Amino acid sequence: MHVIIIGGGTGGMCLAHGLKRAGVSVAVYERYGSRTDGLYGYRVGIDPTGNRALKECLPPGLFDVFVATCARTPRYFNVLTEKMRLTASIPLRDDRDDIDSERSVSRATLRRVLFTGMEDVVHFGKVFTHYERHDDGTVTAHFDDGTSATGDVLVSAEGTRSAVRRQYLPHAQIKDTGITAIATKTPLTPDIRALLPEQALFGLSLIFATRGLIGMLHVMEFDGSADSDDYLNLSIWSADGRFPAGTAQLRGEELVKVALAATGDWHPHLRKLFELSDPAAAFPVRIATSVPVEPWQSTTITLLGDAVHTMTPGQGVGANTALRDAALLCRELTAAASGRKDLLRAVADYEAEMIPYGFARVADSLDNNGTSGDDPLYKPFTGRIALFAARSYFSLTSKVPALRRKFLADLYDYRGA
Ligand SMILES: Cc1cc2nc3c(=O)[nH]c(=O)nc-3n(C[C@H](O)[C@H](O)[C@H](O)COP(=O)(O)OP(=O)(O)OC[C@H]3O[C@@H](n4cnc5c(N)ncnc54)[C@H](O)[C@@H]3O)c2cc1C
Repeated sequence: MHVIIIGGGTGGMCLAHGLKRAGVSVAVYERYGSRTDGLYGYRVGIDPTGNRALKECLPPGLFDVFVATCARTPRYFNVLTEKMRLTASIPLRDDRDDIDSERSVSRATLRRVLFTGMEDVVHFGKVFTHYERHDDGTVTAHFDDGTSATGDVLVSAEGTRSAVRRQYLPHAQIKDTGITAIATKTPLTPDIRALLPEQALFGLSLIFATRGLIGMLHVMEFDGSADSDDYLNLSIWSADGRFPAGTAQLRGEELVKVALAATGDWHPHLRKLFELSDPAAAFPVRIATSVPVEPWQSTTITLLGDAVHTMTPGQGVGANTALRDAALLCRELTAAASGRKDLLRAVADYEAEMIPYGFARVADSLDNNGTSGDDPLYKPFTGRIALFAARSYFSLTSKVPALRRKFLADLYDYRGA
């Protein structure tokens, strides 16, 4: 059996490693060699679900490299006001376990790790255009350079704008949520460190600001490595109308200026993070979500990750769900390759499990942290009440031990611990 995977991102490469490890013939077709633009220069949070999938699929030595290249695990979950007042700070569990821990990794680093040892599997510079299905069930993928590849199974792992999905499930929709985010990256110099309270420096911080603006601050510190690699990501998001028209087209200094203008009443130390950010690394994100689709008749074409169930970053589980898909599909395809299961049964069993949990994550993500433009936080009158409620909820949770324990238990449970 030969498996072809379109897209060498998080989910596609995890699957490719798992299949290669199991001795199943696999080839990945990826459009780009290396990238540092967009989200690639940023942090991604890998949770126990993601760790488990990576551990299952990667060769043991490479999993250790992944762990070693992660930033220090956040020690606190904080809620700040725009004036940098700490309204909640909840200590998180430490990161001693291989699986049951939260990890922060730079996307570009994770990408490099996932391409390691796969030179014989990954074909770069291959932009998928369309596929052809043959009577014997085999599938041919076509690329924009005129070449093609044929396999027994075609896996779509090319992310939110999947061209396979457009052809295979043309009724599946991707919806704009009405939220624009601006992401920035600032080198973590000693001067910058001095601007932040200890909890923010050693934690991840959600900023619930007035006037319908939310922020997230992640500190990426790599123990034992040179200071120059350390950075922080400060992102803000709101309903589209909160930013000037055309914000999503801006880049560099212009975009940082929009972030500064939107946060004019924020604490000067937080604004300083924007002022000292690397303009070349700033970029806008239009937050999208998938609309759940009814299960379909399984064939020798299937999908994983954002290609099927793209979700808002509200819960931080998009990559983790793509990894979960990869490990599950790997098990099913390995069973088919070894003759223990019929191939169509294997794909059907994968989809029967993946579709419900995938779209459940889509729904939870849309409901969380203001990643839908309809959120009361963005309405003129209800906004103040919603802001007060959100801040009070976290403040109370951080102060009452029973609530704090429940919050942490629910959080880790949700994230697969
Ligand atoms: C602001 C933001 C923050 C986020 N934070 C988190 C987080 O903390 N934790 C988390 O779990 N998730 C997070 N996510 C979600 C996460 O980034 C995605 O869910 C995850 O990357 C999806 O993985 P994937 O393998 O499905 O697709 P991707 O990783 O997007 O990979 C798709 C690959 O396909 C390639 N490709 C695309 N089109 C073609 C084509 N036509 N031909 C060939 N190749 C193609 C691309 O170049 C890419 O390499 C965040 C998302 C956003 C927007």
